[in-house]
Amino acid sequence: MGQLGGFKIHKRQDETNTKIKDRLKNYEEFTVPVPSNDATKQGSRCMDCGIPFCHSACPLGNLIPDFNDLVHKGEWKRALEILHATNNFPEFTGRLCPAPCEKACVLGIIDQPVSIENIEKMIVEKGFSEGWIVPKPPQIRTNKTVAVIGSGPAGLATAQQLNRAGHNVTVFERDDAIGGLLRYGIPNFKLDKKVIDRRVAILQQEGIVFKTNINVGVNYSVENLHNFDAVVLCGGATERRSLPIKGIDSKGVEQAMDYLTQQTKVLYNSEFEEEQIQATDKHVIVIGGGDTGSDCVGTANRQGAKSVTNFEIMPKPPQSRSEKTPWPFWPLQLKTSTSHEEGCDRNWLINTKEFITNEEGELTALKTVEVEWKTTTNQRPQLVEKPNTEKIWECDLALLALGFTGPKSSLAEQLGIERDARSNYKAEYGKYQTNVPNIFTAGDMRRGQSLIVWAIAEGREAALEVDKCLEGISNLPTKGKND
Ligand code: SF4
Repeated sequence: MGQLGGFKIHKRQDETNTKIKDRLKNYEEFTVPVPSNDATKQGSRCMDCGIPFCHSACPLGNLIPDFNDLVHKGEWKRALEILHATNNFPEFTGRLCPAPCEKACVLGIIDQPVSIENIEKMIVEKGFSEGWIVPKPPQIRTNKTVAVIGSGPAGLATAQQLNRAGHNVTVFERDDAIGGLLRYGIPNFKLDKKVIDRRVAILQQEGIVFKTNINVGVNYSVENLHNFDAVVLCGGATERRSLPIKGIDSKGVEQAMDYLTQQTKVLYNSEFEEEQIQATDKHVIVIGGGDTGSDCVGTANRQGAKSVTNFEIMPKPPQSRSEKTPWPFWPLQLKTSTSHEEGCDRNWLINTKEFITNEEGELTALKTVEVEWKTTTNQRPQLVEKPNTEKIWECDLALLALGFTGPKSSLAEQLGIERDARSNYKAEYGKYQTNVPNIFTAGDMRRGQSLIVWAIAEGREAALEVDKCLEGISNLPTKGKND
């Protein structure tokens, strides 16, 4: 370790953001990187803990104290190797991960935690700008073929790992571009699509074949999958949760994911022809917190909404805990995103009762009631309505950001794959193998809606199991170990 105790000298330094009035003029990423010299100081804040809780908290098992130290010493290229050893796509996690590693960082007990996520992003961006990230095709090819269905983070990680093992991998994507949720579910101002394109270009040069506009089971028969030695289903959890109340089908009540997808497509396709959901000059209410709700807030502000309101459910009140537990409660804290900072009236513990429309069936208002958490004996806390708190909110565009309930695809039924109690595709724990031989599943399709970092982790682990299935043994790395 280069310097222990750097945290006593250097305060945490994060990326800064451009001014709100400037960034609202466009859809570009708006972060300003920490200067390289200051970044090395940030690495020195790591205490190289005997038990690095950051490492345990990371689903990928990232070797965090190791790359912190290398950054501190200015050994960026080696830091990139260590980072890539456990994480195929640090440019995605470095931008989008809620960083459970930082919540677990021991330094957080007495000071601001080490800025691990930002260090990760700086390492990978330096890697790209210096030209250190280049295609590494396998030296030997097996004669085995694998179909990966879905090109989100789980599918891409699965594909890259299996390609490294020498297998011939084809990735099928139902949309018109690679990336899954990364491509159309996350606005440009949080993830510039060039970041996906430059990584996909490397994967292609490594030998992975990508096929877009192919929706397996819809415009491509599942019978074709029999031509592959193994299949990995990484189609995500895309079934949206709805709000079955009066007026749900009104003009002006839209799903958040449709709204975000359209806006990103418009940016990249000047000939986009669908009727677009627009927030311009409208009173917009986003129902649902979380990242998708926040992304709608940011997008509506960029489109020039007259007002943007967000309804969120406050987390359950914290349970009692031992005084010996020093960490702050997590993930129960309320998060203020950069989109919220850009302008939004946030309201918690509001339940929508009705979408009110005019005679043409167009949305004009929402009727709501306040709710509160209540616990009665032998019961979990429940949300109950507060009497006499009904309210009418003027609204001409309501966006539903209520999460996802599981995979939408009917592939399970077509392939004879069992689902679990939550309707996700079922696989043997830790093996990713479904009940159908040589068909595996990973990511949100298996575990339900989750974090990008979990999708990458599952993709890597599933690839290891597929490789073992095809070859009997595997040299692919397991969690938190070097390649
Ligand atoms: Fe460094 Fe924090 Fe990890 Fe400890 S827990 S090794 S201080 S990053």
